[in-house]
Amino acid sequence: MVNSIKMVDLNGQYLKIKGDIDQAIQEVINASAFINGKAVESFSTELADYLNVKYVVPCANGTDALQIAYQSLGLKPGDEVIMPTFNYVASAEAAALLGLKPVFVDVWDDLFTLNENLIIQRITPATKAIVAVHLFGQSANMEAIIEIATRFGLKVIEDNAQSLGSTYTFSNWKTQMTGTMGDINIHSFFPTKNLGCFGDGGAISTNNKELAQRASMISRHGQGQKYAYEMIGCNSRLDTIQAAILRVKLRYMDSYIRKRIEAGSYYTQLLKDNSQITTPISGKSTKHTYNQYVIKIANRDLVKENLVHSAIPTMIYYPSPLHLQKAYAYLGYREGDFPVAEKLCTEVLALPIHTELTHEEQDYIIRSVIHSIDSL
Ligand SMILES: *Cc1c(COP(=O)(O)O)cnc(C)c1O
Repeated sequence: MVNSIKMVDLNGQYLKIKGDIDQAIQEVINASAFINGKAVESFSTELADYLNVKYVVPCANGTDALQIAYQSLGLKPGDEVIMPTFNYVASAEAAALLGLKPVFVDVWDDLFTLNENLIIQRITPATKAIVAVHLFGQSANMEAIIEIATRFGLKVIEDNAQSLGSTYTFSNWKTQMTGTMGDINIHSFFPTKNLGCFGDGGAISTNNKELAQRASMISRHGQGQKYAYEMIGCNSRLDTIQAAILRVKLRYMDSYIRKRIEAGSYYTQLLKDNSQITTPISGKSTKHTYNQYVIKIANRDLVKENLVHSAIPTMIYYPSPLHLQKAYAYLGYREGDFPVAEKLCTEVLALPIHTELTHEEQDYIIRSVIHSIDSL
């Protein structure tokens, strides 16, 4: 009855739009402008329209986008950048590579995003920016973060890698897409993100013309006129085939987002009477787009192991907070520094979620999760 359940179903999603995608790829091959082909600029314009933001600068991946964003802001070695410790590694890594100092902050136990109440105590004279990470498809509390940044003269970078298509509503009822509220913001088109290409891809978005120009220049070796290098840059391009694929998929974005929200809501409905499983919470100001559907349970590792026997894949995002990773030990953090993140890392379990998931599959997944908890 249930086919093999997948964590994500990229092939199923592709097959539904195969004609359009294949044609778009073929057109790029026919023109053979594999770098800086027409689709790259078209996609940037279309993404800017989708986001309702003035400038989009495409680049090779979300990690590069973070590095380019830091450089565009003119951050210098020794500058401190505040970011959540319960997070993917990219924001810390890109900072460290530039000689910036990642400064970690704990997260909310129920929302998984940056706990804004803990930011101010981490601000020093060297602090220059806050990375607001929109985790699992849900916006961080942008109103509070922007307010703190304004008060202390800091820049805000939204890491929207996991949350394209999400929104945040301010207390004056103004609603904005995530990735349009910070000074400069980043996106990833890694295949499993809300808008995924068929390889690596990323982008920077901003309403600030000067930052957009700097980002664009940095992504092209810091080049102004041809062979005139005005600043130290890098080589970070979205290739034309990926842009062509993204143009097609962006047209289906509303239906993809609707499907993710529907699947997430259905999981929550199935689990609402279960006292052993904590379902993810959608904040009152956020539209959660469920790039990941992450539950919290006791005995997480045993449950995960049990689910393997029911052929249900699950993932752990994240098994360890950044402040306890070996690569970042030089920053001097210790176990116990960020208790919420540390506890979350023992409890979180991401269930399969994607645009092709059926209710039948979700029923089976939840029955198996509950059975596996009961059998412990
Ligand atoms: C995926 C991801 C990135 C990096 O994106 P890549 O395109 O894989 O480099 C950055 N931040 C977060 C939160 C992510 O999930």
